[in-house]
Amino acid sequence: MTQKVSVLIIEDEKSICDFVSKTLQAHDYKTTAVHSGKEGLAQLTSSLPDIVLLDLGLPDMDGMDIIRKTREWSSIPIIVISARTQEKEKVMALDSGADDYITKPFGTFELLARIRTAIRHNNRMVDSHVNSNRPYSAGGLKIDFEKRLVSVEGKEVHLTRVEYKIVSLLAQNSGKVLTYDSLINQVWGPYADDNNRILRVNMANIRRKLEANPGEPKYIFTELGIGYRMLEDESLA
Ligand code: CA
Repeated sequence: MTQKVSVLIIEDEKSICDFVSKTLQAHDYKTTAVHSGKEGLAQLTSSLPDIVLLDLGLPDMDGMDIIRKTREWSSIPIIVISARTQEKEKVMALDSGADDYITKPFGTFELLARIRTAIRHNNRMVDSHVNSNRPYSAGGLKIDFEKRLVSVEGKEVHLTRVEYKIVSLLAQNSGKVLTYDSLINQVWGPYADDNNRILRVNMANIRRKLEANPGEPKYIFTELGIGYRMLEDESLA
């Protein structure tokens, strides 16, 4: 028998805790739910779960502090559950080390998809020395990282160096959102101008080259005010 994936839910809203716990248990996850930040931190260190679902608005603590404290010693995947619609907070959570976010109200399908993606991505990081060069493939888009070759439906696509860098970063994190700032940092370095204009210009060019209809992209999605998310690699799904 394989061991069940264990999920720690840190959320003070009982209805959400119940919904998430029931949904996950029905899909063969093991769940533990706590209702405060203090209990959450205690559970994190004592039970070492495989993944954390974290509410940002807790009664005793800001969820952001839990992310920062956890990241001091652990790379465990953290998905933020938030009622807050402000993009600023989601961006802050992602830049503080959260892996993804999910906005209330959310459905079963979205919850399960986010959890699977975060866990797979984490596993990939753990054995990335083995397969970091494995090609990306999804919906007709292929990227061969060794040959630096990008193709759509079998046709080679010519990208500039910067465009290739952006696309390969998104592909290596496929299924996950990357914030504008983290992309800018990784492509142009930490001293780059942090306005998004140059990134947006490059993205427009990338979409023109990759997408049949750049206005309705099927490979790289915009998360408004937050960043970009690339269609998840099929070989991982
Ligand atoms: Ca709350």
